[in-house]
Amino acid sequence: MANEARSGPAASAGPAAAQRHRRPVPPLPPGSWLGLLGGGQLGRMFCMAAQSMGYRVCVLDPGADSPAGSIADRHLRADYLDEAALAKIASSCRATTTEFENVPARALEFLAGHGVVSPAADSVAIAQDRRAEKAFVRGCGLETAPWIDVASAEDLQRAPPALLPGILKVARLGYDGKGQASVTSIDEAVAAFERFGSVPCVLEQRLALALEVSVVVARGFDGRSVAYPVAENVHRDGILATSTVPARISQSLAVRAVEATQRIADAMDYVGVLCVEFFVLADGSLRVNEMAPRPHNSGHYSIDACVTSQFEQQARVLAGLPLGSTHQHQAAVMINLLGDCWFRHQGDAQPTATPREPDWNVVLAHPFAKLHLYGKRDARPGRKMGHVTVLADAVDEAVRVAVQVERGLGIGSLGVTVGR
Ligand code: ATP
Ligand code: MG
Repeated sequence: MANEARSGPAASAGPAAAQRHRRPVPPLPPGSWLGLLGGGQLGRMFCMAAQSMGYRVCVLDPGADSPAGSIADRHLRADYLDEAALAKIASSCRATTTEFENVPARALEFLAGHGVVSPAADSVAIAQDRRAEKAFVRGCGLETAPWIDVASAEDLQRAPPALLPGILKVARLGYDGKGQASVTSIDEAVAAFERFGSVPCVLEQRLALALEVSVVVARGFDGRSVAYPVAENVHRDGILATSTVPARISQSLAVRAVEATQRIADAMDYVGVLCVEFFVLADGSLRVNEMAPRPHNSGHYSIDACVTSQFEQQARVLAGLPLGSTHQHQAAVMINLLGDCWFRHQGDAQPTATPREPDWNVVLAHPFAKLHLYGKRDARPGRKMGHVTVLADAVDEAVRVAVQVERGLGIGSLGVTVGR
C-alpha cells in the first residue's frame, strides 16, 4: 500500500510557532552533524540511516557501551542534563532528535534555543505522561479505553466499578509493560498503587481486544506528512512480539487508523516520526492506546520492506530534506528477538541458567529473512536484543516462514506468536 503525501493544517501559525519550529534552512548538507539523545537500538538504526546519507551523528547517552554510542561518529558519555555535553551538541549539531520519550524536556528546550529540534519538547511532554496523552487524544475527538487519573488511594476508592477488571499503569516512565498491574478489585488497585510508590497513575478498563494495530507517520516542518501501512501487532507479556504488515484488516479500518494518527500529528503540529498504537474491538471500532514520539518497534519492518525506512524519515525531517516514499515493496513479518532466545533454544525443556548464542542459521537459511542484532552484550529475558524481518510477495507466505523462524529459535515455547 502506498501512501501519498498529504498536507495538514499549516505548520506555522505566527511567531511562537516559528520559534518552536526553527527549521533547517537551507537543508543540512551531507557531512553535517546531527545530534541524538539516547543510545538504544532505535538510536543505532537512526545512526545507520543518517550515516548512509552522509551525515555524522553525535550521541548523548550515559551508558558505556550503548547500541548507538558504539557506532556513532561521536559519543558523549554523560547525563541528558549535563550542561557541558548539551553545550557541545548545541555548538556542533545544527539539528538534534531523540530516540526515546523519557528524555528530560529541559534538554530538548535547551537545544531548541540553539538549533533545530525534532520532535519539539511539548510534543514529547504529551507522550511522556499517560494522563496528558489520553486527555490530548480525547481532545482530538478520538476514543481511548475508559480511564481515570490516579493521584491518591482515595481516587481509586472513588473509581467507577465499570473500570474493573482494569490495568493500573504508572503515568510516566513505563515501557514494555513495566509499571503496569492487572487488577480485579479496588483493594488490588490500591495495593498495586502503593507498590508503585504512590506515584501518579492511570486506571484503565481492560478491553476485550480483537486485534492491535499501529500506524507510523512522518511529518515535516512544512506540515506535510506521509503514513506507513498499518501494522498488525501481537504482544506477549506486555512486550511487542511480532508485527505483520500490511495488517489483515479491512480497507476502511486501515483508513480510519491512518486518519486518526494524522489527526493527532496535525493537532500537535508534530515534526518528526510518530507512532500511534490502537486497540481494535470486536465491533471494528478503534481505541487509541498510546503514542511514541519517535520511530517505533512496529515500524522496524520498514528498513527491509519499504522504499524509505522510518529511521531515514527521521533523518530527512531533521535535516530539512523532503520526505521519502513509504511504499511497501514486499509483505513483511517482524519478529522481535528478546534475550529469552539465549536461554531457551528449540527443543529445550527448561530455560538454561547461562545464555547461549542462538543458532542464527535458523534465520539465515531463509533467503528472504533479514537478521538485525543491536550489539548488546548481555542477553537478559525480556530485553530487546534484535529483530528478524521476513519478506514475501504475499503476507500469508511471510507468516508461514515467520512461524518456522520462531519455532527454530524456540520463540513461542508458550505458543507461536505469529499467525492467526
Ligand atoms: P510499549 O512500551 O511496549 O508500547 P507499554 O509499557 O507502554 O508498552 P501499553 O502499550 O500500555 O504498555 O500496554 C502493553 C500491552 O498490554 C498492550 O499492547 C496490550 O496488549 C495490553 N494492554 C494495555 N492496556 C490494555 C487495556 N486497557 N486493555 C487490554 N489490553 C491492554
Ligand atoms: Mg504500548
